[in-house]
Amino acid sequence: MTNETTKIPQATAKRLPLYYRFLKNLHSSGKQRVSSAELSEAVKVDSATIRRDFSYFGALGKKGYGYNVNYLLTFFRKTLDQDELTKVALVGVGNLGTAFLNYNFLKNNNTKITCAFDVDSNKVGTSIGEVPVLAMDDLEKYLIEEQITVIILTVPAPAAQVITDRVAKTNVKGILNFTPARLSIPSSIRVHHIDLAVELQSLIYFLKHYPNAEEPE
Ligand code: ATP
Repeated sequence: MTNETTKIPQATAKRLPLYYRFLKNLHSSGKQRVSSAELSEAVKVDSATIRRDFSYFGALGKKGYGYNVNYLLTFFRKTLDQDELTKVALVGVGNLGTAFLNYNFLKNNNTKITCAFDVDSNKVGTSIGEVPVLAMDDLEKYLIEEQITVIILTVPAPAAQVITDRVAKTNVKGILNFTPARLSIPSSIRVHHIDLAVELQSLIYFLKHYPNAEEPE
């Protein structure tokens, strides 16, 4: 990440990939500019938030013109380090892990799941979505040798901390934790926690209590 990114509020930084994906689509369809209202409709973020977010990027939309798509794309590419390949490893090739490997949603972003790990000897040695499944014994060695910086954790919750402690001895900087476990980590590692059950409950809560409200920031 560049220095510019460190000045961007976290909530804004989290929306960057969303903006980036939409702008890439716009660009490939030949569009040169976009208004905050169009963006708002597409990414479902209110236009005041979009204008504030974009002001952090030095992108000031002009009335009646909107934003320059090329300028924004260049900024996002630089900020999101899209020019450099980020190698990701997935640990836990169960139902959820397998879905991620097959889906390979990361392909277009210069971010790639290059390998997966599992304890199950029936899974080790196989490949899913062209990603090889390796034994847990090789975890640290592989992560270091292959310069893996990000881990996706899709193991059962009780296994999460032990794996995190092992990963902490490598060059891994980020963990996307899909387990309900709250992880203890050294300050050199950042964890983003995605608990699908909590997200679903939260969505249902908002639907019930704020049926017409904008998505909270
Ligand atoms: P499945 O039906 O394939 O077991 P699941 O998603 O229901 O999938 P989970 O019990 O959540 O199964 O386990 C997810 C995956 O994590 C499994 O493939 C399992 O072998 C693997 N796993 C379990 N414990 C560990 C561990 N300590 N280290 C690495 N992988 C593990």
